[in-house]
Amino acid sequence: MICLHGKVVCGGIVSGTAYVFHRKTAEYEVEQKATCVPEELNRLEIAVSAVKEELTLCIEQSENDTAKDIFEIHRMMLEDEDFLNFLKDAVENGATVHKAVSQTEQHFSKLFKDTQDEYMMARVDDIRDVCGRLKAFLSEGELSVESQGAVVLVTDELLPGDLMKFGKENLTGIIISSGTVYSHTSILIKEMGVPALICGNVDEIKTGMTVLLNGDMGTAYFEPDDKTVEDFRRTEQLAGKKREKSPFHKFQGALYVNIGNARDVSDTLFNKCDGIGLFRTEYMYFGRSDLPDEEEQFSVYREILQKANGKIVTVRTFDIGSDKSVETLPLGKEENPSLGFRGLRVYSLYPEAFKIQLRALLRAAVYGNLRIMYPMVTSSGEIAEIRQILLQAAQELAQQDIPYKLPPQGAMIETPAAALLSDEIAKTVDFFSVGTNDLTQYTYAFDRHDGRLDSFCDQSYKAVISLIKTATENAHKNGIEIGICGELASLPELTEKWTQLGIDYLSISPSALA
Ligand code: PEP
Ligand code: MG
Repeated sequence: MICLHGKVVCGGIVSGTAYVFHRKTAEYEVEQKATCVPEELNRLEIAVSAVKEELTLCIEQSENDTAKDIFEIHRMMLEDEDFLNFLKDAVENGATVHKAVSQTEQHFSKLFKDTQDEYMMARVDDIRDVCGRLKAFLSEGELSVESQGAVVLVTDELLPGDLMKFGKENLTGIIISSGTVYSHTSILIKEMGVPALICGNVDEIKTGMTVLLNGDMGTAYFEPDDKTVEDFRRTEQLAGKKREKSPFHKFQGALYVNIGNARDVSDTLFNKCDGIGLFRTEYMYFGRSDLPDEEEQFSVYREILQKANGKIVTVRTFDIGSDKSVETLPLGKEENPSLGFRGLRVYSLYPEAFKIQLRALLRAAVYGNLRIMYPMVTSSGEIAEIRQILLQAAQELAQQDIPYKLPPQGAMIETPAAALLSDEIAKTVDFFSVGTNDLTQYTYAFDRHDGRLDSFCDQSYKAVISLIKTATENAHKNGIEIGICGELASLPELTEKWTQLGIDYLSISPSALA
């Protein structure tokens, strides 16, 4: 039996079968050397024949001859001796398959371009296509859990995009070896309500092992003995019976919930809370090859507002950047992504995508009690610029005779600048919402995704609370409400502090609400 202890990301008691996924190896494969050449050669062979099969299928299903011909050419490339030998040589010289594919792609692309022959130069795209298929096969092979059924995922690292790919329905529990409870992955896990721990070393765990995961106590047992199974079952039963008074009762009437996915809004959710205090809309943009268009977004927002039946729904405009990367909205190379294009800064790079979201929100506002909130605010000037864009969107809708409503707008207080300048900012918005996850990271200057830095954040959060105090005083001085939607809102031991400060509402994770 192996017993692991860890930090609790999401409580709950579950049992299941372990599925081990090595994310770091998958991600770094492009950079690192292969450790076992025969194993890599085997992977290469599997990838080549899988892509050839995929192409054969494309040829069979093609409805016109041109497409058939193109796929034929691509399949021929995978039979070409020079091409295959280059791939094999790269692997034999120590490259991983990923790396070998990239080197082969570069080599042949350059070779074809250098010929200056139009026909050959046009073949560069074919090389890219074939190499792209190989890479896609190699990475999808790492992530797929479709055939496994629901599992307890054991992984060295997990990104928000991975989580979306696995899907809540495939996950009974999660055990990660690194990270922090404040990362977006952890937040998303809590929103999914999947019991999860951050446990340090998980090297000894193997796929197929039986797992008993106690997310309330922070323990996980692998291949447990009979006595442990017996104790675990008893704890499970007791937990089912335990019904405590909610630690958040002081915020009765002002207790909202955070959601990341429209699917998390069950029919009964609004019976248990007073509304949605944070809808992280960026999750709608993850793991897809296109952007959600106006109609899609409009129907998502409208459906939630209709379910809310008059209760508040606070929608945050998409907050990408840092660990929340979206393939369709690339941000370029950044030395310090957490200090780079994040939140509203991204709207200057992608004004059209932002406008589409605003139009969808203005249209949905007709159907309920919507509030819009902007992430990563640092000044009142930024709010003024955004208001202009919002008014433009409203004007366009009016010209097109499309019904819309201008909802209240709020600023997230998640940078020290926003807290310090909250008197000015309060004059430009209708409410504040404190994002303690980022406010903590930026106040203590520690990366919220690196668990090793936990000890550098004062666990009594003195500095953050001092900034929240400033923002609360300024909010009230200007006659607007202030709430907290970061993870600190979900800590029962801090509710007393929030009432003392005069915080008007809390927005907590669904697991804390449960
Ligand atoms: C926060 O920073 O506290 C917050 C709510 O935003 P996110 O966690 O999505 O960055
Ligand atoms: Mg934030």
